[in-house]
Amino acid sequence: MKIILATSNKGKIKEIRESFEDCEVCAYGDIMESFEIKEDGKTFKENAIIKAKAIFDKLEDTKNCIVLSDDSGISVPIFNNAPGIYSARYAGINATAKDNLYKLIEDLKKEGIKKTTAFYTAAMAIATDRAIFTVHGWMHGEVIDEARGDNGFGYDPMFIPEGFDKTLGELDENVKKKLSHRSKAIRLTKKLIF
Ligand code: IMP
Repeated sequence: MKIILATSNKGKIKEIRESFEDCEVCAYGDIMESFEIKEDGKTFKENAIIKAKAIFDKLEDTKNCIVLSDDSGISVPIFNNAPGIYSARYAGINATAKDNLYKLIEDLKKEGIKKTTAFYTAAMAIATDRAIFTVHGWMHGEVIDEARGDNGFGYDPMFIPEGFDKTLGELDENVKKKLSHRSKAIRLTKKLIF
């Protein structure tokens, strides 16, 4: 079975690809021209469905393939769960991952908060020629007011998973593989498709 990923985020592609070692996995940009998908859902789940459908509808041959999308982000309860679904554009529409990371760090600094509870959410939509399924995964922990380490992507250098005292940027990548919101959603996805 071929899995087409409805994303061009390199961090997500790497993590998802490593979790489906026995399948042919490609990013949608490898088989068609990349295009802008308007993510105007109000939840991670709605946006995941929008992305999976947008790509699935453009496929010429839908046999033996599924489209897998991931809509994810980080939520900080003391900021009313921001950035949440706006994680990828927290510092503005064309913001880079670094801009977004440092905006959240600045937000903490402005409030004089060194560390506070946070969590990641991943909603995955699986589009097949029969139906669209969705699953979720979460990872709980804390965010700190500085960036530490280079592993992972996005907000990982400021996120300390529950039970650890280092950020995902500093921890071995295998720790994230075991614990992450995305890994948990992928485990559920595998139960659905295999
Ligand atoms: P999306 O592509 O609209 O789903 O936005 C996802 C955004 O959430 C990413 O660009 C990151 O900013 C953030 N994000 C999601 N998952 C992770 C993760 O595993 N580590 C760090 N940042 C993440």
